[in-house]
Amino acid sequence: MRLKLAVFAGDGIGPEVTREATNILRAVAELGGHEFTFVEGLIGGVAITETGSPLPTATLDAALDSDAVLLGAVGDNKFNALTPDKRPEAGLLQIRQALGGFANLRPSVAYAALAASSPLRPEVTKDTDILFVRELLGGLYFGTPRWWNKETNEAINTMRYTRDEVVRVARVAFELASKRRKKVTSVDKANVLEVSQLWRATVTEVAKDYPEITLEHQLVDSMAMHIMNTPRNFDVVLTENLFGDILSDEAGVITGSLGMLPSATIGGKVNLYEPVHGSAPDIAGTGKANPLGAILTAAMVLRHSANLEQDARAVEAAVHKVLAAGYRTADIARGGENVQLVSTQEMGKRVHQALAESIDRRQAMHAV
Ligand code: NAD
Repeated sequence: MRLKLAVFAGDGIGPEVTREATNILRAVAELGGHEFTFVEGLIGGVAITETGSPLPTATLDAALDSDAVLLGAVGDNKFNALTPDKRPEAGLLQIRQALGGFANLRPSVAYAALAASSPLRPEVTKDTDILFVRELLGGLYFGTPRWWNKETNEAINTMRYTRDEVVRVARVAFELASKRRKKVTSVDKANVLEVSQLWRATVTEVAKDYPEITLEHQLVDSMAMHIMNTPRNFDVVLTENLFGDILSDEAGVITGSLGMLPSATIGGKVNLYEPVHGSAPDIAGTGKANPLGAILTAAMVLRHSANLEQDARAVEAAVHKVLAAGYRTADIARGGENVQLVSTQEMGKRVHQALAESIDRRQAMHAV
């Protein structure tokens, strides 16, 4: 298997966590005999400092010339006085737009070992494994007209979807559900919004091509409650842009820390992978950053861009194992027994070790 990966570590803790994620990908390549190449590029504040632009042309070219892009995080307080289009975060928005991914995947998983880190009771979160599929290029964030008239004190945003936009993201959700627990929960507000009525009718139509998948519809307001009350009832949750933004953040509390959350954006020219967290300037350079969100993002690269499902699972299992053994970065050190506080690098090393052991075991079994 060959994979050309563009790696843009970015600012703050971005380089620290990305280093651990690429180490894991290198290990998977080495242990499995795959050929992964890594092309590095500048994005965000470091790119502004070096080139004057948050997304230099060389970075964009490298992204478009790769099989997948792995991004750390962008954001640096020293650029706060700049207008939004000149700030580090502009680089992120520009690359997302240029790559054109329309399906944002955000898993929300409860780790038994981290039960004490979530504000929810362990018996509620136990065994939760939700995959959000959020439409990323439509809805209120992009619909026109949009304006704010400061004279009349009136503002407008437009929620707009076409049938084709709903079909393509619904297909992603059903395909992913077919490899999981075979259930899609589609979220809308069809009792009030015409856009949601189109959404519901279209998703129902797409579902006919996937008879093995159970489809249920939920209204977004009661869904917000169900996610907190009975999270393990959900498998793949399909949403439009705004609803998915809100619900996936809400579900983030199930895992317990922002530092644990991975994401992938697929369906465009090149898939874009990034941990959910930002550049965390408050802890940058201290060795306190949790690299597991970035490492789990690397697992998503293996799953969605390299078609190495077994290796993706091996990385996820290695994370479970290291957490079960009690290793914690500071953000997840709350509660739990026999907890050992480790640095970013040490956490990466522990996952690497657990992964190598599991891949060795798998190879030994194949050899028998
Ligand atoms: P943040 O995600 O950087 O940090 C929020 C809090 O969570 C901080 O207390 C931080 O220390 C902690 N945290 C985040 N990631 C962690 C990790 N891996 N391990 C341990 N703790 C972690 O959000 P913020 O503070 O609102 O923003 C900081 C900068 O990042 C801003 O410039 C913002 O614009 C940018 N940002 C970038 C992205 C991105 O690149 N995708 C996302 C969000 C924010």
